[in-house]
Amino acid sequence: MERSLSGKIIVKGKIECLTGLHVGATKENMEIGAIDAPVVRDPVTREPYIPGSSLKGKFRSLLEKALAKQPNRNIGSDVKVHVCSNKESANNCEVCRVFGSTGKKEGEKEGSNFPARLIVRDSYLTSESVEKLSEIDTGLQYTEWKFENAIDRVTSAANPRQLERVPKGAEFSFELVYNVEDTSKAEEDLKNLKLAIDLLAMDSLGGHGSRGYGKVKFHYDCIKGIPVEYLKDETKGQIREVKSLDEIKEVLEIFKNGTSAKGQ
Ligand SMILES: [Zn+2]
Repeated sequence: MERSLSGKIIVKGKIECLTGLHVGATKENMEIGAIDAPVVRDPVTREPYIPGSSLKGKFRSLLEKALAKQPNRNIGSDVKVHVCSNKESANNCEVCRVFGSTGKKEGEKEGSNFPARLIVRDSYLTSESVEKLSEIDTGLQYTEWKFENAIDRVTSAANPRQLERVPKGAEFSFELVYNVEDTSKAEEDLKNLKLAIDLLAMDSLGGHGSRGYGKVKFHYDCIKGIPVEYLKDETKGQIREVKSLDEIKEVLEIFKNGTSAKGQ
C-alpha cells in the first residue's frame, strides 16, 4: 500500500476552559511537599499546558465509542482499546487511519504500523491568559487548587486531597494538522474529527470530569488547506482558508485537481 501526501489541512483555534481543568502530571515530575495532584507544566516556562497526546487520546476514545469500534487490545489495568492490527484494516478504519495504529500480528517481526494522519500539537496558554492568570493570588503559578474529599465506598474512610487546576476562563491555543493522503477519505476523516471535537465539548478533558472539571469549548480561528504543489512552487496550486469545519468541502476542492493523487 502506497502512501503519498497531497497536502496539509491545518486547524487552528482556542480551547476555552468553561470549568477548571486538571490535566495531571506524572508522579515522577512531582516535587516533594507539592500539591497531591499537580497539573502538567512546561519545564521551561512553568506554564500549564495540554499535551497533544492527552487531547488526541481523548478524541480517539470518543470517536471509538461513537463509531462503535470494538475494543480489542488490552493496555493494562483492565483497560481495552480499539486498534486495527494491520495496515490494510487500519486504512479502512475511520479511527485508525486518522489516529494511527501500532498493529502487530503474531509471527510478524516488524510491526504493521499505520502512522496517524492527524498530528495534535501541544496546546499552550494564550498570552492573554498568561497575563490574566499571573494576577491571581493562589500561591500557585497560573493555577488554583481545590480540596476534593473522596470517600472510600467500602470503608467510608475520607481521603481528602488537593487537586491543582487551571481556572475557568483560561484559554489555550490548539493546532491540529491533518495529512491529506487519500482525497477520497479526507472528507469523512475531517467530519469524524469534527464529531470528536463536538463530542469533547459534551464530555470532559483531563481528570475528574464527573466532578465538573474539564468542560471545554473549541473556538476555530481558521482551517487552512495547503497542497504539496503549492509548497514546492507557489505559482502552482493554491491555499484555501475557511472559518469552520462545516466548510471543509470547500478546502478539499483544492486537493481534488492535484497531480499528486497517486497511490489511491
Ligand atoms: Zn481500527
